[in-house]
Amino acid sequence: MGDMSAAPFASVTTAPAAAPAGPSVGAAPQGSGRPVAVGMPQVPRTRRSREEVEAAAPVAKEKSVLLAAPRGYCAGVDRAVVAVEKALEVHGAPVYVRKEIVHNRHVVQTLEERGVIFVQELDEVPEGALTVFSAHGVSPAVVNEAAERNLQTIDATCPLVTKVHREAVRFAKQEKQILLIGHEGHEEVEGTYGEAPEHTTIINNPDEARTVQVEDPDNLIWLSQTTLSVDETLEIVSILRERFPNLQDPPSDDICYATSNRQAAIKMISPQCDLVIVVGSANSSNSVRLKEVALEYGAARAERVDFANQVDESWFEGVATVGLSSGASVPEVLVREVLDLLAQYGYETVDEVVTAEEDIIFSLPKELRAELKRVGDHSRSLGGRGKTVKA
Ligand code: SF4
Repeated sequence: MGDMSAAPFASVTTAPAAAPAGPSVGAAPQGSGRPVAVGMPQVPRTRRSREEVEAAAPVAKEKSVLLAAPRGYCAGVDRAVVAVEKALEVHGAPVYVRKEIVHNRHVVQTLEERGVIFVQELDEVPEGALTVFSAHGVSPAVVNEAAERNLQTIDATCPLVTKVHREAVRFAKQEKQILLIGHEGHEEVEGTYGEAPEHTTIINNPDEARTVQVEDPDNLIWLSQTTLSVDETLEIVSILRERFPNLQDPPSDDICYATSNRQAAIKMISPQCDLVIVVGSANSSNSVRLKEVALEYGAARAERVDFANQVDESWFEGVATVGLSSGASVPEVLVREVLDLLAQYGYETVDEVVTAEEDIIFSLPKELRAELKRVGDHSRSLGGRGKTVKA
């Protein structure tokens, strides 16, 4: 699913304690000027074969870190966070954001300090105020409510979520029953469901796939949340297809490239790890999935933390190899802080295991592009490192 086109397996050796500050590398979109993201240092790359890495770990048994890549910020999160920052610059505080702009405590706290007010629902926003919709998307009912209240809106929905919304609308027009695989109550699922509630049934897990009732087994299509476990989604689809052989697939994968790539990277390192630490918030679907995937793929233990100060020293009893990754809404500075802590515990050798290269940057929401053009801000123009995709 997504862009699984793997670059050659590679390892990057770095010494975090001595590393100089520098620009982001690997997955982190660039050029944002965002204050919440501090990049990893540029380090010399020592490419090793997969066999060499796998063979080295059990023999060495010295304390080391396997750092998964890609990890951290995806293009959709980068776009949403930059959109809020630019809105602050252009309009000044306060800027209202419906729900958390992305599911990360550090990002939310940092933006709050700069004058962003996060609300749960639009009735908390003063009439006419500037309001940003989060990366997870909103249903048409929310868009209509904003219009009724004369709110000035910026839609920071990730374009890959918007793609799923459009699919839902299209298949509802064709009178198909949509089986939406995802977690009920998650904002993204609420938004997609809201595009076609009469045509959509949410499937939360394999058990629900075994029991769901459909109107016409020959008129079904499945769609999914973008941040699910690739493996569990395939399992659910397989159960559904066994029951409904004519189930139609979506035109392209809904689980996004960033989710797929981060899971592929953690699958690669987990069999060699005594402990995997995933940096990410509890309400971040893709971060929670990363911890689950680490355990499924052989990590002896896996823990998720928001911040380095949540890492517990007792986890390291008898641990030689620590795996480290981060969810798609996590700025690299938080990974960096965990690396620094690990170095204090004696895990100074860091091998970065790269399973894919990412170079996607989404252009900013169109409402904002027009405003930035008006004020002569070209800092997020097309070009530079990475492949900018018009959203
Ligand atoms: S995880 Fe995927 S769908 Fe979600 S914001 Fe990132 S790129 Fe978009």
